[in-house]
Amino acid sequence: MDAVEALSERTRRAQEVAGEALGRVVRPAATEPGDRSLDTLAQLDQKDRKASRLVNRARRMFATKPMAVRLAELRGSLEQQYRNAIYCASRLTQEGARIRGKYCGTRWCLVCSAIRTAKLIRVYEPILKTWEHPCFVTLTVPNCSANELFGVIKRIVEVLRLIQRSMRRTHKVPLVGVRKLECTFNERRLDFHPHLHLIVENKAIAELVVKLWLKRFPECSPAAQDVRPTDAQGVKELFKYFTKLTTRVTTASGKSISRRIPTEALDVIFQAMVGRRVYQPMGFTVDAPDEDAPIDPTDTTVAAEERPEPVLWDWEQSVADWVDRSTGETLTGYVPAAEFRKFVEGWSSGETGGQTAPLWKNPRSGADVPDK
Ligand SMILES: [Zn+2]
Repeated sequence: MDAVEALSERTRRAQEVAGEALGRVVRPAATEPGDRSLDTLAQLDQKDRKASRLVNRARRMFATKPMAVRLAELRGSLEQQYRNAIYCASRLTQEGARIRGKYCGTRWCLVCSAIRTAKLIRVYEPILKTWEHPCFVTLTVPNCSANELFGVIKRIVEVLRLIQRSMRRTHKVPLVGVRKLECTFNERRLDFHPHLHLIVENKAIAELVVKLWLKRFPECSPAAQDVRPTDAQGVKELFKYFTKLTTRVTTASGKSISRRIPTEALDVIFQAMVGRRVYQPMGFTVDAPDEDAPIDPTDTTVAAEERPEPVLWDWEQSVADWVDRSTGETLTGYVPAAEFRKFVEGWSSGETGGQTAPLWKNPRSGADVPDK
């Protein structure tokens, strides 16, 4: 603990003691650390200290709940799974300093994604660190419509597998890397951009992959593919999210603002990703957590302070925190910044920040789209 932390810890304790004297516990408000979008929220790394980890978790809970409600209200094929995210970690049980809860494990839950991301980085980072000249590769195809998305994702994943085989058999350059499947939504054109990111062992592999990709997709622009050297930061970039929840748009007055991606578009992306691995090691194996599995209930979080008696903490969206109903005390003290609260509550009101959501019929909610 450094001096600043020690000081703030003492301040916190002093506030608590004073609060207890007043008959209630007062905690320091953990306010919004600057202007963080939902995307950076999904990538907050696992180095956060124990106390602030719970604050970050509260922040993710606060953002996930209304989003999951909106997604479930679309009544598509993932409705039940979106509902699971609504109830994720809704009750935490504290015994001593240990906090346990039931986590949904779904991909659209920002709480569970963050837990899984931390685990993935722990598994992959030591391996990638042994590569002397790792390269970050981006492989793209032209944007597609909602109806085409499932087929296009299937195709790009298959093509990369074929390239891997051809590199091993024909080119004698084994593809060693980590593949990530990502999809973003283009707000202006109302279409989708599925693409692959890879971190590969060296530049020779990277360049060969791009060359073979362009051979398989002659309609693709070489300028839309990318190879660049990377480092430990690139590893973290790779694991941050598989779809953005916001887009940055420029208003008429020239101001750049963050805007929610329409729920309908997110639902299309999540449905197209069902059964697809977001991350795949290529040319080596890892003991990585299953991307769709529930989070191990034995996963525990350590509370800022130990309790002599067991405490039940219930999530309360209006407070943006878990609350001990018997005392009214909150668990983390998280207080969303006004701007962030407005952003998150926009999910509930359904407004997308000035734009009309594209209300297309979801291709995966009705009859199955034939595989291409
Ligand atoms: Zn969850």
